[in-house]
Amino acid sequence: MGRMTREEQRLRLLKPLERELADGGHDRVVAGGLERLVQNLGQPFPEVRRLLAGYRTMEPETRLTRLQQAIQLLGGPPPLRPSFDTPLEALGLGPGSRRKLAALGLRSLRDLLHYYPRRYEDRRLLRSVREVEDGAKATVVGRVLSRELVKTPKKGMQLVQVRFVDAWGWRFTGVWFNQPWVFKQVAEGASLVLTGRVQKRGGAISMNVEYFEDEGGESLSTGRIVPVYAAKEGVGQAFLRRAVWQALASLPQLPDPLAAYAPAQGLPSLDFALRQAHFPESEEALQKALHRLKFDEYLLLELKVMLESGGSALLGRSFRVSPGMLERFRAALPFPLTRAQERVLAEVLADMQSERQMARLVQGDVGSGKTVVAAAALYVAAENGVQGALMAPTEILAKQHFDSLTRYLYPLGVRLDLLVGSMGQGEKKAVLERLRSGETQVVVGTHALIQEGVEFFDLGLAVIDEEHRFGVLQRRRLLGQRPDVLVMSATPIPRSLALTLYGDLEISQIDELPPGRQPVRTRILGQKSRLQAYAFARQEVRKGHQVFVVTPMIEEGEAALELAAATRLREELERLLPEVRIDLLHGRMRPEEKDQVMERFRRGEFDLLVSTTVIEVGVDIPRATLMIVENAERFGLAQLHQLRGRVGRGGLEAYCILIAGEASKRTLERLRVLESSNDGFYIAEQDLKLRGPGELRGLRQSGMPDLKLGDLASDQAIIEQSRALAQAILAADPYLSDPKHALLKREIQARAEAIGFREVI
Ligand code: ADP
Ligand code: MG
Repeated sequence: MGRMTREEQRLRLLKPLERELADGGHDRVVAGGLERLVQNLGQPFPEVRRLLAGYRTMEPETRLTRLQQAIQLLGGPPPLRPSFDTPLEALGLGPGSRRKLAALGLRSLRDLLHYYPRRYEDRRLLRSVREVEDGAKATVVGRVLSRELVKTPKKGMQLVQVRFVDAWGWRFTGVWFNQPWVFKQVAEGASLVLTGRVQKRGGAISMNVEYFEDEGGESLSTGRIVPVYAAKEGVGQAFLRRAVWQALASLPQLPDPLAAYAPAQGLPSLDFALRQAHFPESEEALQKALHRLKFDEYLLLELKVMLESGGSALLGRSFRVSPGMLERFRAALPFPLTRAQERVLAEVLADMQSERQMARLVQGDVGSGKTVVAAAALYVAAENGVQGALMAPTEILAKQHFDSLTRYLYPLGVRLDLLVGSMGQGEKKAVLERLRSGETQVVVGTHALIQEGVEFFDLGLAVIDEEHRFGVLQRRRLLGQRPDVLVMSATPIPRSLALTLYGDLEISQIDELPPGRQPVRTRILGQKSRLQAYAFARQEVRKGHQVFVVTPMIEEGEAALELAAATRLREELERLLPEVRIDLLHGRMRPEEKDQVMERFRRGEFDLLVSTTVIEVGVDIPRATLMIVENAERFGLAQLHQLRGRVGRGGLEAYCILIAGEASKRTLERLRVLESSNDGFYIAEQDLKLRGPGELRGLRQSGMPDLKLGDLASDQAIIEQSRALAQAILAADPYLSDPKHALLKREIQARAEAIGFREVI
């Protein structure tokens, strides 16, 4: 030691300090602890010794700062100021490595660190081959003793046979069938990590190798929980591990856009999360890390939505709600509200009373009683002296709503009007005049409500039914006077998904049907028993009931084929059921034509409606008791559930027969969900589980967020927590202009770019 120059001593000390810093200050790089090393080697550098005195008991943050200072004192390179935008070359990755990473689309530090492992392998406890049971699959490490390439005489099979010794001294043979190139990849003396099935014959142990890696000297592939990435030809696991490891090692501490919030949210730092997500120390640490990364995904998503929709704290109307109003409303109803309706109404009224603009989505299965809740809200608006409007996607729905609202509100003295395209000019003009003067308190209508020339005296509440049928711009026209907004939807989107898709809409669910409503009895029939369905249809028609027969759309944009299929079915049924009056509804009809067919069906002018999936959601055909769906497997469960909601709305016992055109086990299992459940939200969740969100129909594809870790079907708690934080952050800093949010803003730009969102209001 005495003969070492000062320069040699400096380097001897500097190296372990740098490694300790790269390892994140866990005091595990130096055997016996860093502090002892510093006391021994650090005599010529008293300042360094002082800085690192008591290292063992320091907080991690302090350790890292002190390490950086000590490294500076010893003339080490200045600490890299890492940014997620740092290009990979700045991290010391050579051009060859960078080319490989670019092949996976990874260019910056951000890309690389968010390239999360697909899965992990627990290789903490590598066993000796000796302990593995005959026939079991295992991962072991072996050193190559010798190798040979064997050609079997019969059939010209080629075997690579390699003799290994494991760390405990047990010998075994690794075997590869018909992969002669392996021979060149295993060098004598190399240590390999081998996975495969172990066979024991007498004293001999062999392994049929499924895959293997070079242990590569670094302990990245053994003795730990090992990350397994989505790799690619020429870009292997060992390479990816080393690249990520090197990137992490070159950065003492990763910046954290949520540094100010993470502790209070019970979240680990981003530095911890990213390091542990790639190289977990324990399962527990891994879970914590993934939780944080998921949280960030949702938070960025939600901040993005909220920023784009102009902030969620817009001022709206502030309504007065008195107990008297609600008593009068309830007294005029022919039934008591269900508990779910009461709860949702309370949520709606709380929004209406607050100064913030209401933006609430009321979801509920068909027939759950959304319209009644809307009626109560419209009544409150009328009592407050402002106008309310309800906009429905079709005339027939608008008329139906107008009838219901008239039933509920006319007895309370509310002045209602209907505005639809098919009205005569004179009639229309009169309605427009009453809207302008404020004489009309509640108007129900179609797109006619947002046409040129429609002016409200003071629109305070807008209710939009089946909102997904309206374009954003169309809605905006109705919302010019900043009314409170209530959206009603029967599409049973799971809550967790809805929160994310709809961004800053608050959500209420009516998750209970009014009492006495009988569930639609559902049966699945195979293709062979198909005619039974139509025999049953004949019986229903004889009782004076009506029947829907739905045939799926072929493909988007193939309306001609779809029409042909529906027409063929109609002809078949006309032959089969000569006494039944049949008509057809299809996607090529103009909206007025569709309305006319539905109107005639409602009036009972025919018995059986063959239709592609264009049946208007929400139209009541009280005498319809049977829904037959051909090729039911082509529909989503949620969609089928909505379809069967068309029947049994008049209190008659109702049935749904699903004809499975293709009866694989998976198909039947999926359809069975409908036989066993009548709960639209449960069904939608199952649909999501069994198909994956990308396949969920009825949702705009671009509205599907592209999440790496998040699982929309099961992340409800995380989504809600991140959403609350997003709201709090924007409440304090609506445009993220505070310098302390600069990092966060940058991450939103960089990481949420790919995610297309449904615009809200
Ligand atoms: P939705 O709009 O959700 O499809 P509606 O509001 O149109 O449902 O209600 C469906 C039917 O159920 C209507 O005939 C309505 O009168 C009836 N209804 C609604 N709420 C109740 C209730 N609490 N009790 C009994 N019947 C109800
Ligand atoms: Mg309705």
